[in-house]
Amino acid sequence: MITVEEALAHVLERARAKPPRAVTLADALGLVLAEDVASDIDSPPYDKSIVDGYAVVADDLRNGVAQLTILEEVVAGAVPKARVVPGTTTRIMTGAPIPPGAEAVVMIERTRLVPCDGVGLGAVSIDDHEIRAGRNILRRGSSMRIGDVVLPRGTRLRPAAIGLLAEAGRTTVDVVPRPTVAILPTGNELVEHGEKPAAGQIRNSNGPLLAAAVRQAGATPSVLAIARDEEVDLRQKITSGLEADILLLSGGVSAGVLDLVPRVLSDLGAEQVFHKVRLKPGKPLWFGISRRPERETLIFGLPGNPVSSFVCCELFVRPAIERLSGRAGTGLRRVHAQLDVEHRQRGDRQTFFPGLHRVDDGRSHVTPAAWQGSADLHGLAAANALVAFPPGDRTYAAGETVDVLLLEDA
Ligand code: AMP
Ligand code: MG
Repeated sequence: MITVEEALAHVLERARAKPPRAVTLADALGLVLAEDVASDIDSPPYDKSIVDGYAVVADDLRNGVAQLTILEEVVAGAVPKARVVPGTTTRIMTGAPIPPGAEAVVMIERTRLVPCDGVGLGAVSIDDHEIRAGRNILRRGSSMRIGDVVLPRGTRLRPAAIGLLAEAGRTTVDVVPRPTVAILPTGNELVEHGEKPAAGQIRNSNGPLLAAAVRQAGATPSVLAIARDEEVDLRQKITSGLEADILLLSGGVSAGVLDLVPRVLSDLGAEQVFHKVRLKPGKPLWFGISRRPERETLIFGLPGNPVSSFVCCELFVRPAIERLSGRAGTGLRRVHAQLDVEHRQRGDRQTFFPGLHRVDDGRSHVTPAAWQGSADLHGLAAANALVAFPPGDRTYAAGETVDVLLLEDA
């Protein structure tokens, strides 16, 4: 049986970034840029004031005080008409263009209007010993110049980058599109979660669980109707699932008499890459690929038990989604943490145990959750991390350092 690391290497080797596509800025959050983006203007496009105040000739303030005649008032969005010359000033608002002739802006707080006889805008008396040329002016092009690449290909688009794209004049942008993931729950015992299970039935919790995990990892999920453990139904639903970039099946990959998934997949021409991983929970994991002229689909046959399904999804499907999205494929963030309590570990498989991670005094700590095994979603739901224990029987003492995978917040 292959190890978790070997299995992940097989997956990543086959997970290639999707071809670029143009999307609007509203759809670009979290995606990876597939082009270098240059600005089509200088920004800011003109010298502008960063305060409310008075635009002046610097030399008028060489002694720190002056009384100046007000020429006009310019608000943001307006264009100044008058040239500021020695002895004069223009009242200016934040964001408005600097008038010709002006070299600095005095903040309104440093000024006082001179009582006026009603002719013109009157005069202002200024007391500001700090004023030099350039003070309180944001120069044209100081943020970016026309033609400058402001965001290089490969950038993951966070909110600030979306704002920068807008500043650079973009309405659409080439990105690596979001992968699509079809989710196919299989099992004769399953009913949809809106129903009350009759004798021998259980609710399909994996459909909604996997859809949420996939969405959190950055892909677009679509949950198919439950497939029965029967070849014709499986074949038909798998065929429709193969229209996605990734197909996740849950259940039907273990050693039971009705575990038909691997055979049906192979009948449909999918190539098996591996079946079974030295992993707990999640040993029955099946992975393969379907290559057709119109599309390549990565196929994961996840074990039916919800926690096994989830762990396999986080360990293998998440990195695959990241790679298809043009990202590195490093998966969940890994940290070292101190075990809060003694923990006994048994078996020859690498084990991922739900745990509660917290940071205390700058140090990571983790407590294994009260967890009943691979069907126990309740125990998993209380966790925010998976503690990774290497294979082998061993008792870990409280205070020992262990590897922890941090489950992402929503
Ligand atoms: P299987 O891998 O099909 O043998 O299923 C293993 C266990 O997981 C069985 O107890 C199933 O009832 C359960 N199971 C399978 N599919 C689901 C599902 N979609 N939601 C919840 N439990 C499931
Ligand atoms: Mg089953």
